[in-house]
Amino acid sequence: MENNYTVLARKYRSQDFESLIGQDVLVKTLTTAINTGRIAHAYIFTGIRGTGKTSTARILAKALNCLSSDHATAHPCCQCENCRAIAAGQHIDVMEIDAASHTGVDNMREILDAALYRPTNARYKVYIIDEVHMLSQSAFNALLKTLEEPPAHVIFILATTEIRKVPVTILSRCQRFDLARVPVETLKKHFAWVAEQEQVELSDGANELLARAADGSVRDGLSLLDQAIAQTGGHVDEGAVLDMLKRTDRGTVVNFMKTILSGDVNAALNKLDEIYNNGADLTMLLSDMMEWTHWATRMYPSLKLQDVTSSPYTADQRETIKKINETISLNTLSRIWQVMTAAVTELQASSNQKQCFDMLVIRLMHIADMPSIPELLKQQETPKPVQIPERKVEEKKSTLEINTSQELLEKLQENREIVLYSYFGTNLEISEFENGKIVYFDRKGDPTFQSSLAKWLSEKTGKNWVLQRIEKSEHQQTTSEHVKEEIQADPMVADAMKLFEDAEIINISK
Ligand SMILES: [Zn+2]
Repeated sequence: MENNYTVLARKYRSQDFESLIGQDVLVKTLTTAINTGRIAHAYIFTGIRGTGKTSTARILAKALNCLSSDHATAHPCCQCENCRAIAAGQHIDVMEIDAASHTGVDNMREILDAALYRPTNARYKVYIIDEVHMLSQSAFNALLKTLEEPPAHVIFILATTEIRKVPVTILSRCQRFDLARVPVETLKKHFAWVAEQEQVELSDGANELLARAADGSVRDGLSLLDQAIAQTGGHVDEGAVLDMLKRTDRGTVVNFMKTILSGDVNAALNKLDEIYNNGADLTMLLSDMMEWTHWATRMYPSLKLQDVTSSPYTADQRETIKKINETISLNTLSRIWQVMTAAVTELQASSNQKQCFDMLVIRLMHIADMPSIPELLKQQETPKPVQIPERKVEEKKSTLEINTSQELLEKLQENREIVLYSYFGTNLEISEFENGKIVYFDRKGDPTFQSSLAKWLSEKTGKNWVLQRIEKSEHQQTTSEHVKEEIQADPMVADAMKLFEDAEIINISK
């Protein structure tokens, strides 16, 4: 039994155009061309591995030589002598050449010399050259010579994963077809069908994971399915596939990102340890986190890209992502993406991936914390404590004289009243200031601020202050002098003024 086992990818290889997976455009164009007798002398198929280039080449060879019709047919019978021999790779007139092992010019000349002779059993002599980009320059030249004046009975079918390495002179003589990456849904349908034929259980979640891991390649996906069937004895569920792929399930990834963005370093690093100890491949984990970032960005409310039906997340997970999105900016997401992209190469180059990943997690947490450049610029418009110098202040008892808002800020700073200092600097627009009275507009309107400041002022100056909060409209009538005073009070502006002796505030734009 063991010895007779055929791998799924070969067993379920497409035998005709109709059964090619996910290549509808190519199939339509090729069958129309064949049906109308427009047959080119050279074709080139390109696309990632496992999308069906060689299968298509063989189907085309059958279409050209099927005995069920007296001319080329888009529907080869797959039963006649020619069809069967071609499918088995044993037809005398259909040569399959692996360019990787025939790179030399002598090899190529020998092969091309034989092209001059008429086919033995078929209508056309077909040369299928796989991975054609591997040929040497001289071999390409020899091929080009034949392509320039091809004998009427010869058809070349070239296949390559790297079309850019094929000389333009060759390309210009070929009809080119690009085989698309097969979409996840199409792969899933195919894998489900294969599982049914094989009478094995394949859960929908497991199928989804396999189809995504296949990354557009039918062959890669079927190899994974093969492996999963062998490991589970035919009961392929999500857990088994996750184990096999050394992958962490999406729910865990979503929660991990949530922990990182919540800013709890310990929790995040513990979670990473847990994931790592469960045997996760860190490269895969990073790729899953990037997938998360991509989708979180797509789901970001301001982008209005609300079509998330193709996202890999369950409704619950999407809800979590939505909640996380409420706490971070689009800008943060974009910077997270940048750091993750850079980490891909770092991780590959690192001799200790776990260390590298620990540091990545910490970096991501800092990004979530950091204001963006526009946010920073905005902050500079209003006074904000930059640094509070460590200065021991002698206790002066109830003798403070405060005449301007600048003096008040200085005193708050000296007394290390960081909360009041910061709030005053950030949220207040001073309309009037004299010793004992402040008229101001409070942008934020925290009710505890007024009483705290009043208490502090009375303690320090020994008298009761009138703190009058006004509305924005009243405040807008303030003269520009007040605004100017306020701006001059900004420590950052003050520093700048000190730096440039002749500096003067001329214009204030908001
Ligand atoms: Zn046939």
